[in-house]
Amino acid sequence: MAAERTRVRRHPERGHYDRETVDAILDDGFLCHLGFVVDEQPYVIPTLHARLGDVLYLHGSPASRMLKELHKGVPVCVTVTHLDGIVLAKSVFNHSVNYRSAVVLGRARRVEGDEKLAALEAIVEHIAPGRWHEARQPSEKELKTTEVVALSLDECSAKVRNGPPIDSPEDRDADVRSGVIPLSILRGTLE
Ligand SMILES: Cc1cc2nc3c(=O)[nH]c(=O)nc-3n(C[C@H](O)[C@H](O)[C@H](O)COP(=O)(O)OP(=O)(O)OC[C@H]3O[C@@H](n4cnc5c(N)ncnc54)[C@H](O)[C@@H]3O)c2cc1C
Repeated sequence: MAAERTRVRRHPERGHYDRETVDAILDDGFLCHLGFVVDEQPYVIPTLHARLGDVLYLHGSPASRMLKELHKGVPVCVTVTHLDGIVLAKSVFNHSVNYRSAVVLGRARRVEGDEKLAALEAIVEHIAPGRWHEARQPSEKELKTTEVVALSLDECSAKVRNGPPIDSPEDRDADVRSGVIPLSILRGTLE
């Protein structure tokens, strides 16, 4: 059941509010976009994330505006998006994209101590599995120059579109090529 703030209005049938769906979308991507407002100006900043249980972790330099604002506990919106396919319909109007996206609303809190280390490990392991133990661990000085914040997943939603184009009845027999062009991120090998 969606809370009013997180209810998908357009194509509500594509909205999902169960944590299994939201978690899978968050875990499947390492890039998120974090939105916050400063002096009435919204900023949407791309950054990395990792999830541990009910918490989404973000990190960065203490000098960054993003981290400074997060520490103040301002309202934030984090979005993770996967573009899975380009949907070519018979008419330009009915073109679409297949996607999975998750939106998390809330206020972040600063993380210290063991939780900070666990969060940093989660971020590294999320992007490069096995790397936390392979590479040198962070020094005290490095830890001081890295801030970590946590955002609870209490308020979140997902939206998913998949499947073929939805053509209007009058277009169905038109001689126009149509279908779905799949898209995915390809992980190469270490050079
Ligand atoms: C790759 C991609 C491309 C898109 N392209 C377009 C486009 O070109 N034009 C367009 O109008 N829409 C596009 N959308 C859909 C768009 O993200 C919104 O869902 C849409 O604007 C309708 O929002 P709304 O008015 O129903 O909800 P809003 O009132 O904007 O949002 C209400 C709540 O619904 C939830 N919500 C809304 N959208 C999403 C979402 N995508 N994922 C998770 N939760 C969501 C959030 O919790 C939000 O707080 C695209 C989505 C994706 C992922």
